[in-house]
Amino acid sequence: MKIGVLAVQGDFLEHVRTYRAIGVEAVEVRLPEDLEGVSGLTLPGGESTTMRRLIDRWGLRQPILDLAASGAPIFGTCAGMILLAREIVGGEAPILALLDVAVRRNAFGRQLDSFEGDLTVSMLGDGPVHGVFIRAPVIERVGPGVDILGRLGDGRIVAVRERNIIATAFHPELAGETRFHRLVATMAAEHDDPAEGSGRRHHPVRRERTAR
Ligand code: GLN
Repeated sequence: MKIGVLAVQGDFLEHVRTYRAIGVEAVEVRLPEDLEGVSGLTLPGGESTTMRRLIDRWGLRQPILDLAASGAPIFGTCAGMILLAREIVGGEAPILALLDVAVRRNAFGRQLDSFEGDLTVSMLGDGPVHGVFIRAPVIERVGPGVDILGRLGDGRIVAVRERNIIATAFHPELAGETRFHRLVATMAAEHDDPAEGSGRRHHPVRRERTAR
């Protein structure tokens, strides 16, 4: 099982290192063929306008949409969340539009360009999630199918999940926070082998599906 990390721009190396630190194989994705055989994809932080251009230049848009449609987990952090959003407040066209949220880019303004803060993400367990926010977006609207995973103290939404799509406004990969990556790896394993979730590890479904 391996997870792809979009590596056209941004802090992809930190995601690759985070996966490797938890024993998960991670591959850098620059071209459509790099997506072959991946069971999930991570979209890193960086500059969403640049990533938008490079996704189209390298023909990655449709293969990413196909991977998402197969049910594989797609995890976006910061600019990666902007790539996923169905709406970008202010009129920019959406990029992948896989997540039914509206995001506002650079939502914290110059005073708070970068900051760190703890939040509780109940599905990740008790310990606080330490978030590094760098010219971060915020989620201003969530659709009915979207679970809110985390908010800042003032109530602003900064982590969400809609089925196989997970997004954070902050960078867990810059804070030594591995629980999101573990969750993505678990979802990817379940995607490869639906029996895994119920503990039936040697169910024939596994052999059929991994033989593809
Ligand atoms: N400000 C960037 C953007 O709008 C996101 C910053 C980040 O990923 N740390 O694309």
